[in-house]
Amino acid sequence: MTDKKRLLSGVKPTGRPHIGNYLGAMKQFVNLEDSHESFFMIANYHALTTLHNSDELKENTIDVALDYLAIGLDPEKSVIFMQSQVPEHTELAWIFNCITTMPYLMRAHAFKDAEAKNKEVSVGTFDYPMLMATDILIYDPDIVPVGQDQKQHVEFARDTASKFNRIFGETFKLPEVQIQEEVAVVPGIDGQKMSKSYNNTISLFASDDELRSSVMNIVTDSKGEGESKDPETSNLFTLHKHFSGDKLQDLEKRYRDGSIGYKESKEILYEDIKSIVAPLRERRENLKNDIGSVHSILKNGGEKAREYASKKMDEVRKKVGVSLE
Ligand code: AMP
Repeated sequence: MTDKKRLLSGVKPTGRPHIGNYLGAMKQFVNLEDSHESFFMIANYHALTTLHNSDELKENTIDVALDYLAIGLDPEKSVIFMQSQVPEHTELAWIFNCITTMPYLMRAHAFKDAEAKNKEVSVGTFDYPMLMATDILIYDPDIVPVGQDQKQHVEFARDTASKFNRIFGETFKLPEVQIQEEVAVVPGIDGQKMSKSYNNTISLFASDDELRSSVMNIVTDSKGEGESKDPETSNLFTLHKHFSGDKLQDLEKRYRDGSIGYKESKEILYEDIKSIVAPLRERRENLKNDIGSVHSILKNGGEKAREYASKKMDEVRKKVGVSLE
């Protein structure tokens, strides 16, 4: 036991992480793990809502573990685990389903989005917020550091905790969402939110060539060199804000006075992103040579997470009456 505040967050193993995941969530994980008792989950049951290929899911899962380690998470300090190692998550999700209504879940942005696009929505996708509520609540965290797109899900978790507590008595802590405003929504190369599903990402662990090509494909207006450009509305400049540190003031001035063209701006951005991601990429390459260690880190993490979650579930089973104790 420790006096530190607790945190829980996770990443879905559905493809390569991008710089939106890194800035919006993963970088915070590293900054917080010393001051918090931390649980970092690989959300493989969530991935199953869209990914139906076992080899790919397994590979993606190890990939997220490698990503966590490559960005600097320390398995000696934090619990790194797979959602599926703790079956109490899905068990609790059923209980939450039984106290949640359909109209309430129909308010979820992800569901409304899928409906608006006429996508076929699986029950798992519809129920995603309840599984995520269990992921969070079963560990009684104080904070949940995420990007803006997950804010509503944390609110659902808080509502569900309140409802459960009201019906069955005080059981779950209400966690706070933690979003860093400057990186709440990192734009993709087309200016929309960077997202695996929009195909507009800059991969965190891309090779130099891939990175260069993504950066060169960032969409801009058609203003040429010599023309004044508005940094406030430029998607390219927003990315500079996250990567170009000391150069930012000068870049802003040059945008406004027109002395920089988008090509030069992209060259600078490419170098700046590269200088930050190259060391992470190198660490990841080294970690890949010892996948056995990654498996033991997950085994260990899964055991620690389960120890916590199973105690909580004992309490929940008694409270709802499915245990005769
Ligand atoms: P996911 O891979 O969808 O599970 O996302 C992992 C984390 O990255 C979540 O906390 C998201 O909120 C965050 N995230 C995803 N895309 C972005 C983005 N474009 N900007 C900021 N944070 C993001």
